[in-house]
Amino acid sequence: QVVTRFAPSPTGFLHIGGARTALFNWLFARGRGGKFLLRIEDTDRERSTPEATAAILQGMSWLGLDHDGDVISQFEGAPRHAEVAHQLLADGKAYKCFSTQDEITAFREQARAEGKSTLFQSPWRDAEPSTQPDTPYAIRIKAPRDGVTVIRDQVQGDVTIRNDQLDDMILLRSDGTPVYMLAVVVDDHDMGVTHVIRGDDHLNNAARQMMIYEAMGWDVPVWAHIPLIHGPDGKKLSKRHGALGAQEYQAMGYPAAGMRNYLARLGWSHGDDEFFTDEQAKEWFDLTGIGKSPARFDLKKLENLCGQHIPITGDAALRQEIQGYLAAAGLPALTNAQSGDLERAMYCLKDRARTFPELLEKAHFVLTSRPIKPDEKAAKALSSVSDGILSELTPHVQNASWTRNELESALNSFAEAKGLKFGKLAGPLRAALAGRAVTPSVFDMMLVLGRDETLARLSDAAT
Ligand code: GLU
Repeated sequence: QVVTRFAPSPTGFLHIGGARTALFNWLFARGRGGKFLLRIEDTDRERSTPEATAAILQGMSWLGLDHDGDVISQFEGAPRHAEVAHQLLADGKAYKCFSTQDEITAFREQARAEGKSTLFQSPWRDAEPSTQPDTPYAIRIKAPRDGVTVIRDQVQGDVTIRNDQLDDMILLRSDGTPVYMLAVVVDDHDMGVTHVIRGDDHLNNAARQMMIYEAMGWDVPVWAHIPLIHGPDGKKLSKRHGALGAQEYQAMGYPAAGMRNYLARLGWSHGDDEFFTDEQAKEWFDLTGIGKSPARFDLKKLENLCGQHIPITGDAALRQEIQGYLAAAGLPALTNAQSGDLERAMYCLKDRARTFPELLEKAHFVLTSRPIKPDEKAAKALSSVSDGILSELTPHVQNASWTRNELESALNSFAEAKGLKFGKLAGPLRAALAGRAVTPSVFDMMLVLGRDETLARLSDAAT
């Protein structure tokens, strides 16, 4: 069974690169009936905060990236990590190193002066146990001194590292705390992780981590180190480019489905497919489709995909997601009545909206109430027709039965009789019904508002 994990360090919000890493792991597991686990790498006690953990969980929940089992805290596993270090010690795969920081610094300085490698070579590696002092010690791995370590990476190909470039890394510090590299390996092994999909900034760590797997005789997981995300100009992604937290995208009103689609395409491809559903993404996602060069972040493309996802999302689901957007953006929530009205109107709102602010702009007619205050453009449209026209129109509308066909023919024949192009009439009608120039069609608005409300708004505008 495939087991993947997302292992964020809780030092800040869920940034866009992390969200994509989580998504890749989620898609890979979900498409294979596997498990997707979440481990919070909170061993750095100074930089880890509970707020950051909460923000990461919230970001994942917005993106719909549900994980299996409990959230695992790496810090809580420290006793187990130490146990593995001691096991390696007992097996002769690691040794006690009594060198002090001063001695290590002195070693490096001398090596530098002599033009030799500054990788620390502990004198304790092969020391007789009887010579060991009774002072604190670190546990170091006995790294192979020659040969090579090959990382068989599904994205980067085979990456070969000379073992003489790796030192006898510390597993357990002299204060008894495990190092991060050991914690990752022990956790991944104990969690049964089969595939490690993460940023390629961890590629070098993989070589060191492999030493621990090999020393323990554990199976090495499949590696897939994915290139980082760059800005549209090809430079490292920065805030200026949109290196924001996942939730800031929620606050900007992008739907989660569009965001997932976009993030999946960021560094992974399936032929020429740009737009796809979650089901397709789960079915198609594989490691071979991950590109080797950094993906470029492109807000236009995100908007475009969101504009294709909104129309295919159910009305009730959209209404709910819009409430989430309003909360994230710090805007007032919809009342129950507004929320119901919004859902009834959704069919005529969702077709061209790329974001929720765009959708809500069109929804203004149903969210607002009388008296309708026209904005500047709407006021202009109202004054573009002669004064009595809306009151003249009213009886024609009043007597129509409330169907799209009837309303269309009532309005069309009225316009014709007045020698007006329909467009000339539509502007003031939009203004009267919505107070806006950008709205759904006047017929849709009339149908959603109903006869009484429509007539009341017309009569308000006519006076
Ligand atoms: N905690 C690491 C990070 O946030 C990820 C480590 C891993 O995936 O192995 O970059």
